[in-house]
Amino acid sequence: MTLDPSTVVVHAGRPERVPNAPVGESPVFSSTYVAGGDRGYGRFGNDAWTALEDTLGELEGGRGLTFASGMAAAAAIADLVPVGGRIVAPQHAYSGVLALLDQQATAGRLTVDRVNIADTADVTRAVDQADMLWIESPTNPAMEVADLPAISAAGRQAGTTVVVDNTFATPLLQQPIRLGADIVMHSATKFIAGHSDVVLGAVVTADDDLWNAIDLRRRSLGAIPGPMEAWLALRGLRTLALRLERAQSNAAFLAERLLQHPRVSRVRYPGLPDDPGHARAKAQMSGFGAILSIELGGDAEGAQRVCESTALWVHATSLGGVESMLERRRRWPIEVPTIPEDLIRLAVGIEHPNDLWADLEQALKTGI
Ligand SMILES: *Cc1c(COP(=O)(O)O)cnc(C)c1O
Repeated sequence: MTLDPSTVVVHAGRPERVPNAPVGESPVFSSTYVAGGDRGYGRFGNDAWTALEDTLGELEGGRGLTFASGMAAAAAIADLVPVGGRIVAPQHAYSGVLALLDQQATAGRLTVDRVNIADTADVTRAVDQADMLWIESPTNPAMEVADLPAISAAGRQAGTTVVVDNTFATPLLQQPIRLGADIVMHSATKFIAGHSDVVLGAVVTADDDLWNAIDLRRRSLGAIPGPMEAWLALRGLRTLALRLERAQSNAAFLAERLLQHPRVSRVRYPGLPDDPGHARAKAQMSGFGAILSIELGGDAEGAQRVCESTALWVHATSLGGVESMLERRRRWPIEVPTIPEDLIRLAVGIEHPNDLWADLEQALKTGI
């Protein structure tokens, strides 16, 4: 029986159904295990990690590994690049990942080539002789969409390890391994956990050698999740399909409204028919997600005031929670300078759409 992902997300990673078994896995609060079995030590595994890893693995089409944060997962993956190797990365992507790669380049550990990830020819040229291709799609916060099947195939052909940060799409809207990628990573802090109460990361790969190499790094670098964090993320993940359905329809509604608003000069959302990423997103995703970015065509101060004028929307960084959040990305010094100063990222939650629009409209008026 082939199950829909919205069913898999509810049922995967559960204990075996035998009399007296609990319905769901529990976190095990133990730093070590009695000798004689295969568990060993708390840094090597935990029942709550396993349940989360099995669920994410089944959704993405591979085997999972959880980490202390999305950045810990990214760092373990980047460590696969040999010393002196070359990584191809997007011009625009999560600023923390780009900063990590820059630090490693500055230290002489590797070299980084930045490409426009939406430009397939540009990416295909750059992957020749590269050790790793790092992709984000849609990108944070520029909302560019990469042609995942095409550039994954180009990476594969060049013998490059293809990595996709799938945080924005979630495993319900996009499964990059099934589109040709080698490794998928998530900031599980965002949509997967979904309640703004936990920081966590995850990796999925269908390649056993890559899985073992990343597991080895988790053991040796030690960036492991706490059992409680893994359990919270799994609990959150169970309702991802429902949360996304509402957040996504809210995002589509707001994108249309914002497009008509006289103060908004540009709306970046792949769900809009005129968005440059629309056709690609439609081909490789089963929905357009719940993040959009807007530009006001003004200065940084004006955009900053809008962010500070909301009552319902939380002015905070992060995304993927049940509560809507917004921020001007360039308020962070490490954000890429080609991201416009007046770009506001809207992470849409599951509130009533009319309330979200009323508050945004009010903030766009107030924050002039
Ligand atoms: C937040 C985020 C990360 C980093 O994850 P943390 O859990 O904050 O360490 C990586 N990639 C993307 C796309 C993100 O949004």
